[in-house]
Amino acid sequence: MTTLLPHATPARADLTLRQASLLQSLRAELEAPFSLGDLLAFLLRWALDSTGAEAGSISIVDHERGELVVQEYDGYPREPFSRDSYGEPRRRVSWDVGIAGRVARSGRAYLVRDVGRDTVFLPNAPEIRAELVVPIACDGQVLAVLVLDSPRSAAFGERELAFAQALCDAAAAPLRRALWYQQALETSTQLGQVFSSIPSGLALMDSQGRVLRSNPAWAGLWSLPDSALEGPFHIPWDLVGHLLPRLADPLALTEFCAQGHGNPSDIMSITVVLREPHQELLVLSTPTCDSLGQLTGRVWVVNDVTREREADRVKSEFISVVSHELRTPLTSILGYTELMLTRSFTPKEQKEFVQTVYDQASQLSQIVEDMLGISRLEAGKVQLNLWPVSMRQIVGELTAQLNAYLTARHGMVIHMPPRLPPVYVDRDKVKQILINLITNAVKYSPRGGEITLAIEEPERLPPNHPEGAFLLVSVRDRGIGIPPEDRDRIWERFYRVDNSNTRRTTGTGLGLAITRALVELHGGRIWVESELNVGSTFLFTLPVSLEGLARRPDGTE
Ligand code: ADP
Repeated sequence: MTTLLPHATPARADLTLRQASLLQSLRAELEAPFSLGDLLAFLLRWALDSTGAEAGSISIVDHERGELVVQEYDGYPREPFSRDSYGEPRRRVSWDVGIAGRVARSGRAYLVRDVGRDTVFLPNAPEIRAELVVPIACDGQVLAVLVLDSPRSAAFGERELAFAQALCDAAAAPLRRALWYQQALETSTQLGQVFSSIPSGLALMDSQGRVLRSNPAWAGLWSLPDSALEGPFHIPWDLVGHLLPRLADPLALTEFCAQGHGNPSDIMSITVVLREPHQELLVLSTPTCDSLGQLTGRVWVVNDVTREREADRVKSEFISVVSHELRTPLTSILGYTELMLTRSFTPKEQKEFVQTVYDQASQLSQIVEDMLGISRLEAGKVQLNLWPVSMRQIVGELTAQLNAYLTARHGMVIHMPPRLPPVYVDRDKVKQILINLITNAVKYSPRGGEITLAIEEPERLPPNHPEGAFLLVSVRDRGIGIPPEDRDRIWERFYRVDNSNTRRTTGTGLGLAITRALVELHGGRIWVESELNVGSTFLFTLPVSLEGLARRPDGTE
């Protein structure tokens, strides 16, 4: 026999005295601040114990998806869930199937006294003979469904139904609170996961600039040590204090914070430039409010835009190189050829013009070569033709070529100890490296002076240098020097130091980018030491040939 009851508080008369007093004490206990899991476990235990049911479950109703989510179950001889393809139990079931779903939709309790006589009921397990399903509802909405099962026919009657219903009614308000709390917890867990996994640096601060919360990316982007995050951290003071040696413009960051303080509802942004290594961080500062709409402080969103800015710069430098460095020789080639086509000249004049056209075309070809060269290098398409070679030989072969680069104002001195181990290199590429550095030394020493090429076995290599045996090659000039803030950047494609001296010399800003790539392709490193208006020394390392060392027992040439 089946009983479908309207959802209503059962008459007290249906409860035994023991049940009534039990309910009274349970009501008080249900007021305790339970988590959702604890509350449901508590409720199920009491429902099982006080109705004598052997097994039971409680499912939360998901009204949005029309599903029941089994949260708590106990007493079933086998696990009542089938498994999904990940091996996880299927805890969700559509509310269109089964009695629990029907109760969830109708809000009415359902009592199956005996399975054999019920046409609707399909038990979960063959052992089940009787089932009692009661909604837990609040303000007309079914929040959950309690299912009690027994292998005994007629295990449940009006008394059990009345008690289960009264228990569920008493649990409705605490369950709603626990669900809200659970929902808030889920939301905050989700937001917490977004907060900690997002690659942008995030910091939430109060109106005094004290950081209340920050994510791992925040500390990473500013390279903050763990110790900086232990105590209170104030913006800008602690941040500026930490970044001071690297900040290109410490005042700008302080002013940005002061401006935010003065205009707490403004959305603002700033790009913070850091040196050594060069880094550009875009900071977006947005006001934050509490649930009443009162301003509480700011949130900073920090993104590393070094690559984007570099790409923008490379693009505009590329356009300027194309428009200037390519156009100038082209204009002169066109001018001279046009002139020769329109008038006749003496053979001497003609030779001069053709020479100019040839020089300009060579310059053009060099620029195009450099552009293609750097693209090939960066795409990893350059293969080295490695052989054990003596540096003395390379320098010897270069001397004739070098004389063409040296003007009357520059002298060249070469320091090389009589005995040096051979290097394992691509000789043409090493020549290219040396030519690039020596032509720069000439170009950026407008007043002339000595250029020194030195090759030695270094006593020690700079920190972070790869392990192994290397020769150290240096090219020193007495030229204009390189400002400290540009020393990191001269290696970038198209980067040229912006001053009147460099503006006067032609160049694409590709030479050092190519040079560095070539040195690193050999496994060496390149760096610069420089003093403004005194001169620069470019130093690089090349690997010593182990084969060569083996062939020469004393390790020398
Ligand atoms: P380019 O010489 O075509 O401009 P490079 O890549 O060779 O390009 O050099 C990049 C920049 O580095 C130069 O524009 C110049 O400002 C600076 N630089 C390179 N070598 C020297 C040097 N020996 N002395 C001073 N500045 C130099």
